[in-house]
Amino acid sequence: YSSGKITALNIDNEAFNFPPCMYHLHLELRRKHRLSHYARFYYTLFLKECGMNLEDALIYWKNEYSKPHSCTSLCVHDWQTDAKKFTYSIRHMYGLEGGRKNYKTPNCRGICEQVPGSNYEGGCPFSNFDTDSLRYLLQKSINGSELDQIMAVAPKQKPQDTCANFFKLKSATCVSDITITKPVQYYLAMRDLN
Ligand code: SF4
Repeated sequence: YSSGKITALNIDNEAFNFPPCMYHLHLELRRKHRLSHYARFYYTLFLKECGMNLEDALIYWKNEYSKPHSCTSLCVHDWQTDAKKFTYSIRHMYGLEGGRKNYKTPNCRGICEQVPGSNYEGGCPFSNFDTDSLRYLLQKSINGSELDQIMAVAPKQKPQDTCANFFKLKSATCVSDITITKPVQYYLAMRDLN
């Protein structure tokens, strides 16, 4: 994948091209300034694979984790007191510490299996969110009859199929067919259309 496309400065615009699962994590991070362990893990790897370089990743996470948090359970840490730990953790996900593994983001199936709970705010919106939460998230991108269309098919289809329908509606192009298997693949396909 090409590198450096997503930066700490342009991420609010780029996030509009993210699949709903990762767009949700971006919005949650901006809102609460913290994410739970797995959400942070998956989202950091997603950004890495989409081309955010290490320097920008450190700036992005530092900016948020330096702000006062607005939640109770997840947020015992902040950047000021845990800078070394957070920096190590991000470098680790970039394969620069520890076993220097090339960690990959999970595919859609893996994400759908992670059910959101009090300690995990991620998951696949098409699979794991209740109706109100799904509608609330999707209406940031589509509305009217398009939103109704997605809400009607979501309970009946596989999440990846609904995600593909959403992609086609949102991109408003004549993409006749697309199969979604991974959040990174969704983003790169959407970015190529813009
Ligand atoms: Fe994300 Fe995959 Fe769910 Fe789409 S189908 S929202 S890419 S996990």
